[in-house]
Amino acid sequence: MSSKSVIMVTGGSGLVGKAVQWVIENTDDKCGKREGEEWIFLTSKDGNLTDPAATKAIFEKYRPTHIIHLAAKVGGLFGNMAANLDYFRDNLLINDNILHNAKEFGVQKVVSCLSTCVFPDKTTYPIDETMIHLGPPHDSNYGYSHSKRMVDVMNRGYHDQYGCNFTSVIPTNVFGPHDNFHLVNSHVIPGLIHKSYLAHSTKSPFIIAGTGKPLRQFIYSRDLAKLFIWTLREYKEITPLILSVPEEQEVSIKQVVDSIVKAMEYDIDYRFDTNKADGQYKKTASNKKLMDLNPDFKFTPFDVALDETVKWFKENYETIRK
Ligand code: NDP
Repeated sequence: MSSKSVIMVTGGSGLVGKAVQWVIENTDDKCGKREGEEWIFLTSKDGNLTDPAATKAIFEKYRPTHIIHLAAKVGGLFGNMAANLDYFRDNLLINDNILHNAKEFGVQKVVSCLSTCVFPDKTTYPIDETMIHLGPPHDSNYGYSHSKRMVDVMNRGYHDQYGCNFTSVIPTNVFGPHDNFHLVNSHVIPGLIHKSYLAHSTKSPFIIAGTGKPLRQFIYSRDLAKLFIWTLREYKEITPLILSVPEEQEVSIKQVVDSIVKAMEYDIDYRFDTNKADGQYKKTASNKKLMDLNPDFKFTPFDVALDETVKWFKENYETIRK
């Protein structure tokens, strides 16, 4: 990166955006803020990125040299199923506006955020970066998944036609402070943290949908943030990079529940409602490409990351998204 950089983070108020801000403000020079860097964290209050004029005005105001592009319409399973078209259009518009202006304003590098749901529903494991376009994504959120896949297509096109350095990363399931802890419309970890908290405070049973057997790779938002910053500074390719813990660190939903109960620091009984569906048994992704390029990176142990998240949840319960 050159000595004077303006780094604009879209989606700066979200789970991942807040983690990038935390890392920039609280860690050493390797991941933290460097001399000559100005970091700008955008929220939707700065402008609606589905709107071309509002997006252009943001670029005119800040003149970014680098962008971490996180802003997206993100939702749970039911939200996606009910409005696949809205997820497709909003995200397509946001991504097109960001990348088009990035090219027009001569932005030196953009790192956009995809998601593992871009991968084909029917696939072999472990999933790797070469498999994105090899078959249709899962039906439940095809709108969101296709809009994310198109970022990879646009990155390739901007590079081929204009020589732009626009790339993308693919995180697995993210969790951490500032997550959305809504009981229905949230991801698995924040949803379970909130449910266990309510079960304890209302002295009602803590019931978890499914068998607890499915396996997932979870990445702590602050680890992901460090990897985003590393990608912005060091990753040279246009093609995407999976940002994930190793395959051996996949955990079962039962392990997640046990860790939450431990982090909550109270005795609580729970049971699985095995009449409810489990979802996909696993979605194992390979982090080989990442570890080949960044072999020294150390992931926060799952229990430590969960502990920090639960502590943050309890301290901020009144004001969190829920
Ligand atoms: P959040 O829902 O926590 O945050 C979304 C962010 O996008 C907020 O800052 C929001 O602003 C902003 N935003 C949404 N719509 C608009 C809009 N129309 N105009 C301007 N800003 C907008 O998301 P996450 O932090 O969880 O996700 C960040 C990225 O990571 C996304 O691209 C997501 O697809 C991806 N991802 C997330 C995973 C996860 O497990 N959470 C897993 C894999 C990928 P405001 O707060 O003002 O509304």
